[in-house]
Amino acid sequence: MIDYHIHTLLCNHAVGGIRSYVDAAVRAGLTEICFLEHFTLDRTSTAHSMAPGEVPFYVYAVREMKEAYKDRITIRTGLEVDFCPEAVPALTEIIDRFEFDLIGCSIHFVDGINIASRRNASAIPDKDFDALCRRYVERVRQMVETPFFDVVCHLDVIKKSGRPLPADVEKGLAEVIDIMAQQNLALEVNTGGLAHPAKDYYPSEALIARAVTQEVPLTTGSDAHKAQAVGAGIPAAMNTLRNLGVTHLARFDRRQRILVPMDTQPTPQESQ
Ligand SMILES: [Zn+2]
Ligand SMILES: [Zn+2]
Repeated sequence: MIDYHIHTLLCNHAVGGIRSYVDAAVRAGLTEICFLEHFTLDRTSTAHSMAPGEVPFYVYAVREMKEAYKDRITIRTGLEVDFCPEAVPALTEIIDRFEFDLIGCSIHFVDGINIASRRNASAIPDKDFDALCRRYVERVRQMVETPFFDVVCHLDVIKKSGRPLPADVEKGLAEVIDIMAQQNLALEVNTGGLAHPAKDYYPSEALIARAVTQEVPLTTGSDAHKAQAVGAGIPAAMNTLRNLGVTHLARFDRRQRILVPMDTQPTPQESQ
């Protein structure tokens, strides 16, 4: 099992030392993990992200863990980049200086609104929420058409508060999957939403099924912001993926994608 979406305290909203996440991953029986720390150059969201000056420290800290745990677990270094079209050249310059295994992309802010905040979502009237979802899909479309990233993280996270998405937004997200297939992007099956009011994977099973049909490679990630959440929901996700006919998952080594067969044995359900 792999957990390809783990944060560290460098993003200012996760807790615990980096080693505690690795220990939790080993305990959870994971064979491979990827740290995917938030990184943005967009001024709206820098408070939730590692700062550019912290990147060398982050890369060094993960490298130290890779070495210390190399007999027990494979550890990868990645970033969850908040998509901001104007910042792509500057981001590329910073990222290319280091040996990252994986660059994920996601959108947390639309027109200055943190769409991944439950408090914000419940304060928005229905009509405005629908309009916000449409602007979100436009940004996502622009993101997947930008040739720089490896994996799209939590594709439909805008449903986090549990509010249903308008039908045209669902359709727009399905079209995004089709663009991802053309752009050779992988899709993350993010289990973080199982613990949110959405009570679902990001993205939904219908969108994952479309990705499977379109042969979009998949990763699995918990989006852990605390050690106890590492690996949460991954066994359930593996079962869901098997039922959809998925046989391989994507892994990344220095930004080269490798397709690895999923475990052949069904994964026991997690104890709650
Ligand atoms: Zn976060
Ligand atoms: Zn995120």
